[in-house]
Amino acid sequence: LTSVYPDHVWTAEGLRSDIVVRIDGDTIIGLETAGSQPVDVRLPGALLLPGLVDVHSHAFQRAFRGHVQWRAGDRDDFWTWRDAMYRTANALPPDGIEAVSRLAFLGLAEAGVTRVGEFHYLHHAHDGTPYADPDELAHRVIAAALDVGIRVDLLRAVYGRHSAPRELQPEQRRFGDRGPDDALAAIARMKKRYAAEPRVTVGLAPHSVRAVPPAWLRELSSFRDGVVHAHVAEQPREVEECRGESGRGPLAVLADAGLVTERFTAVHLTWPDPGDADLVRAAGASVCACPSTEMDLGDGFLPLSLRTGDTRLCVGSDSHAVHDPLGEARTLELHARALAGRRNVMAVPGDRHAVAERILRAASIDGGRALGGAGEGIRVGAPADLVAIDLDRTAAAGVPPLEAAAFVSTPDWVVASWVGGRPVISHGRHPARERIVVSAQRWL
Ligand SMILES: [Zn+2]
Repeated sequence: LTSVYPDHVWTAEGLRSDIVVRIDGDTIIGLETAGSQPVDVRLPGALLLPGLVDVHSHAFQRAFRGHVQWRAGDRDDFWTWRDAMYRTANALPPDGIEAVSRLAFLGLAEAGVTRVGEFHYLHHAHDGTPYADPDELAHRVIAAALDVGIRVDLLRAVYGRHSAPRELQPEQRRFGDRGPDDALAAIARMKKRYAAEPRVTVGLAPHSVRAVPPAWLRELSSFRDGVVHAHVAEQPREVEECRGESGRGPLAVLADAGLVTERFTAVHLTWPDPGDADLVRAAGASVCACPSTEMDLGDGFLPLSLRTGDTRLCVGSDSHAVHDPLGEARTLELHARALAGRRNVMAVPGDRHAVAERILRAASIDGGRALGGAGEGIRVGAPADLVAIDLDRTAAAGVPPLEAAAFVSTPDWVVASWVGGRPVISHGRHPARERIVVSAQRWL
């Protein structure tokens, strides 16, 4: 039994002050008005939020952070970056993937993340040979997340070709499946293996319409037992190629295959077709933007039509260029303003805290829903996944608490976090920080 007493709590019913949050095991069992009762953890000056959720991560990409911020030739774009990413992907042995993933998840945890969706597409040795345990690298990534202490939703990627009609190239052999059954069998094995570990779930991730043939997509729609994520319309070239093959855009192709449901998350969707916003909303699907990576790679902007209305939005760190989930979510609104030439775009008028709450939801509750969670927020009976943000900062002086977190905070304001009631960050630090950084160093 633990009790936590911050200055403010953003509960499922809104912001409340002088509340003690009581935790038993992995669950919130009480939100009590503070009085004379003893408390275990006092957090003066802090705002307690639901744990932040990074919906879209490729953890190994943390290995080349900062090493691609220069231009080797006349042209540098997504595709030249991808060449560098492939070199990194193929250079890391299992130990390196685990160590780098642990570092990536440490960085996320220090930024307040309690749950990560790991879009995992490194399956084999670099020449395509399966490991003795065909799920070896997935186990390594899961072990890294559990070692850091955060929840992980392993989104097992399916990857079948370079692009229509080209087969897998040598640098892609590490990602390849022989068919949809390879992926579905891997998911079944992992679900069994992690059945007793509540911090792990397994979902399906057809990599993209570029890398997965339409016939495979149709077969994959038989998957019912978890969430489905795919990269959708990240780059114009991918959209053109998709039109050339199928006569339609990527989201329409995924929908035709039966994959766009309330369990689906479209990652990026920077170059959608005109009907895509309606398609996503009608299905009750989620859209995961990754603003820092989309800026870093020159992808473009999620269009305004997908930021407004009741689209369920969430965010991902994707390439691990930075770890700042609240900053990513804030960018959804700030880019919306830049695109619209107006202010306070992502919420209905008149509600004093609606914009800040939309940003905070995208970084937490709605991210959790995209990964199959209940999206409950802080309420009695919900899992005790919590993050405390320190508002006792010069930059927060006089700023309303929700707006301070949504519009001003930086990752170093995170002072504490809990995953299923277990502390992960305490006093602004992860207890294994040194060990994790040192063990990753040689692979960076
Ligand atoms: Zn991605």
